[in-house]
Amino acid sequence: MSTKPPTLKQFQKRFPDDDVCLEHIMRVRYGQRFACESCGREAHYYRVKGRRCYECEHCGYQVYPTAGTPFEKTRTPLTDWFFVMFLFTASRNGVAAKEVQRQIGVTYKTAWRMCKEIRTYMGTVDGDRPLGGVRPFSPIVEVDKAFIGGKDRQGQDDKAVVLGMMERHGDVVTRIVAGRHGRHVMPQVTTWVIEGSRVMTDDARVFQHMHKASFTKASITAKKNMCAEKRIRTISKPSGQT
Ligand SMILES: [Zn+2]
Repeated sequence: MSTKPPTLKQFQKRFPDDDVCLEHIMRVRYGQRFACESCGREAHYYRVKGRRCYECEHCGYQVYPTAGTPFEKTRTPLTDWFFVMFLFTASRNGVAAKEVQRQIGVTYKTAWRMCKEIRTYMGTVDGDRPLGGVRPFSPIVEVDKAFIGGKDRQGQDDKAVVLGMMERHGDVVTRIVAGRHGRHVMPQVTTWVIEGSRVMTDDARVFQHMHKASFTKASITAKKNMCAEKRIRTISKPSGQT
């Protein structure tokens, strides 16, 4: 899993204007196609020109992808919001409102409010919210282990095991676990991934502790698009645990 943050140049190339930012929010939150809340049909949503909304190809039902996010009630361009979020991810020591005021040319009050919103939102997103879900358009969660470190002075394997759980195009939770076995790994997975979620793993034995692979049509399609060696499983908690 790559955790290298993008450079500012890469970031600005990726998010050059508000339309691209909105499209990003839409696809991260809803995906490409999903069951329309109004007509119930599997639908693609098209952007409505000049407004921060998308509508169902069948019935015209409208979705506002910024609803419930810090960008919902704001006149500040999304590119500015994205830039400030970039500053937050790029800086170890936090971001000062004064710096934001200077960088994007807003008032101190606006800068302060943006920082506060982003901090609050990052708090709710950064590992505090369980991943996945059981709704048809809930994202698949990829679960993987990584080993960091080397050998200790006695030549013993001294690697830390980092467990990464990542919604596709979405949130990430990482945890350092005590070892590489099921008893170390699975309690974290069942804590952070919602029961019934579709989970993608490699074939490592540890992941066999998950419920027997359950392949729905959607997950087979997703599997083909990804990596043939990976498996999508439906996660279920061991009985007796809630
Ligand atoms: Zn519809």
